Amino acid sequence: MQELTLNQAQSAVDDWIQSVGVRYFSELTNLAQLVEEVGELARIMSRTWGDQSFKPGEDNAIDEELADILFVLICIANQTGVNLNDSLLNNLEAKAARDTRRHHDNPKIKEP
Ligand SMILES: [Mg+2]
Repeated sequence: MQELTLNQAQSAVDDWIQSVGVRYFSELTNLAQLVEEVGELARIMSRTWGDQSFKPGEDNAIDEELADILFVLICIANQTGVNLNDSLLNNLEAKAARDTRRHHDNPKIKEP
């Protein structure tokens, strides 16, 4: 299967929006869409790893829900001028500097 960098993914989503989607939904609509998709992921996860159970025939495609979330997230990045590649790299760098020992020193997440 083809692999995409984050920059390529942002371009691919933008191409799709221009050719199939006509235009981006408003930023606030996409925020609502993002929350809706996260809710769909939560439904699957609560039924897979939580105490809820699936109804007969209910969809449990976690990969599809993660892709839905990524798609809307990329839409929001594109329409707000965010470069996800740069933002993620900056975020990881900031987390590494801030949390150098934090998680290693957390007794709650030590390996048993
Ligand atoms: Mg969905």
